[in-house]
Amino acid sequence: MARFPITRTTTPKQKPADDSLAFGRVLTDHMFLMDYTEGEGWHSPRILPYGPLSLDPATTVLHYGQAIFDGLKAFRGADDKVRLFRADRHAERFNRSAKLMCMPELPVDVIRQSFDALVGLEADWVPRKRGTSLYLRPTIIATDVMLGVHPAHSYLYFLILSPVGSYYKEGVKPVRILATDSHVRAVKGGTGEAKTAANYAQSLAGQRDAEAAGYTQVLYLDGVHRKYLDEVGTMNIMVKIGDEVITPPLAGTILDGVTRASALELMRDWGLKVTERPITIDEVMQAGRDGTLKEMWGTGTAAVVSPVGTLGYKGEDVLINGGQTGELTQKLYDAITAIQYGRSNDPHGWTSLVPAVD
Ligand SMILES: *Cc1c(COP(=O)(O)O)cnc(C)c1O
Repeated sequence: MARFPITRTTTPKQKPADDSLAFGRVLTDHMFLMDYTEGEGWHSPRILPYGPLSLDPATTVLHYGQAIFDGLKAFRGADDKVRLFRADRHAERFNRSAKLMCMPELPVDVIRQSFDALVGLEADWVPRKRGTSLYLRPTIIATDVMLGVHPAHSYLYFLILSPVGSYYKEGVKPVRILATDSHVRAVKGGTGEAKTAANYAQSLAGQRDAEAAGYTQVLYLDGVHRKYLDEVGTMNIMVKIGDEVITPPLAGTILDGVTRASALELMRDWGLKVTERPITIDEVMQAGRDGTLKEMWGTGTAAVVSPVGTLGYKGEDVLINGGQTGELTQKLYDAITAIQYGRSNDPHGWTSLVPAVD
């Protein structure tokens, strides 16, 4: 592995107890940085003590949001080894996001080396308690200093790490979601396929309104017809109607979730009928009324799966599987986490061991 220059912290932080961990509140002792300059490409990879970045107020990212990120996790197994889950796939998606946002791509092996180098250095920060993990947040921001709107000529790549608690402290728990036709997440030709800051900024109002109406999250419908399922909050959505699992296709508005892809692959391994096709909210609500809507869940790195117990739309609520976590949803959760923590074998080679750094 490439060796990067490391400046070690002289004031290591007190590590929090595994029990006290939430999501993204505690950051580790070091960060990985690398610069991009037009003509020179990516250069000056380095690991520094974690700390604030100094940015001129006219830095373009602060005004026009040219920023991408990704999110993946490192898990400590019962064998004490640290594994990354589908790091290559995350690195490839990071580059697709870069391309969509007119940003320079990074060689996948450099992204991977930054993951291994920083997680290896911070290995003690990977928590031990069941369900906990170390979250990796690779990010690129535009760093030109000027107020004109343009794809920047200079960028900063940074990688930061955060120990996170179990998403489900008392077992997988269903949520109430609201299908909305007043807010839209993405349209074809827009930024829906990129993991970019703007998508999150514009999701806040829909989320706020869903919470005000007594739901946990928003189920977005397509921006043109306002009838096809798109995504739930910042997760991909799946439904099981009868014996068939249906999920919206990757057709220009949906983020290509790594958990989505993994769940689809596992369910196909298990011989289930899995279909990627547009599905309307009317079809889902009707299936909810006539009892054929067996399960519904979101997928994403943070939760793995998030079962939907109640689906609301136009003033009507349907209860799914009696408001309980469905059998298939639970099976996916168990299978994916078993691979992540090295408790089961990994037939698809999704995990990679992080080499120790001294
Ligand atoms: C990150 C994200 C997901 C989930 O992707 P994973 O790779 O499974 O974590 C789904 N939808 C949106 C909009 C996202 O930003």
